[in-house]
Amino acid sequence: MIKLDDAYHTDNIFAKILRGELPSIRLYEDAETLSFMDIMPQVPGHVLVIPKTPATNILTLPEPAGAALIRTVQIMSRAVQVAMDAPGLLIAQLNGSAAGQTVPHIHMHILPRHDGLELAFHAREPADPSELEEIAKKIRAAL
Ligand code: AMP
Repeated sequence: MIKLDDAYHTDNIFAKILRGELPSIRLYEDAETLSFMDIMPQVPGHVLVIPKTPATNILTLPEPAGAALIRTVQIMSRAVQVAMDAPGLLIAQLNGSAAGQTVPHIHMHILPRHDGLELAFHAREPADPSELEEIAKKIRAAL
């Protein structure tokens, strides 16, 4: 169980993605952050942004890493908005299992929102990888 005061564990899924030990559909990377497709999207175009700084949650994230994270969230939000033709964007960030956090490396969710298109359950249903790749192409093209 994740506790808010837990120390960072280097064996979490996103740490492995950062080290290249697990695959991901990468969209954008700079010195401080990485953005990739969520493999269990709640809507088409669900994107994640993570800092490279190891931090479990908002309480332990150093301020400069937080600033870099928000900068990349803005970059990705613009691209997702254009690529998915989204009139709305939901930005979410969960801290601790009680809040629904399942991966203990801080991350921001970007979810394009359209009237009448409901959100699927959180972290439940893996998407077809080829569909994720198609959407990723559109988002990269909008960067
Ligand atoms: P949270 O519950 O806020 O910690 O969000 C974790 C997110 O990571 C969920 O939306 C999952 O669908 C997503 N996720 C889990 N494993 C992977 C993975 N290997 N690659 C991309 N996204 C993942």
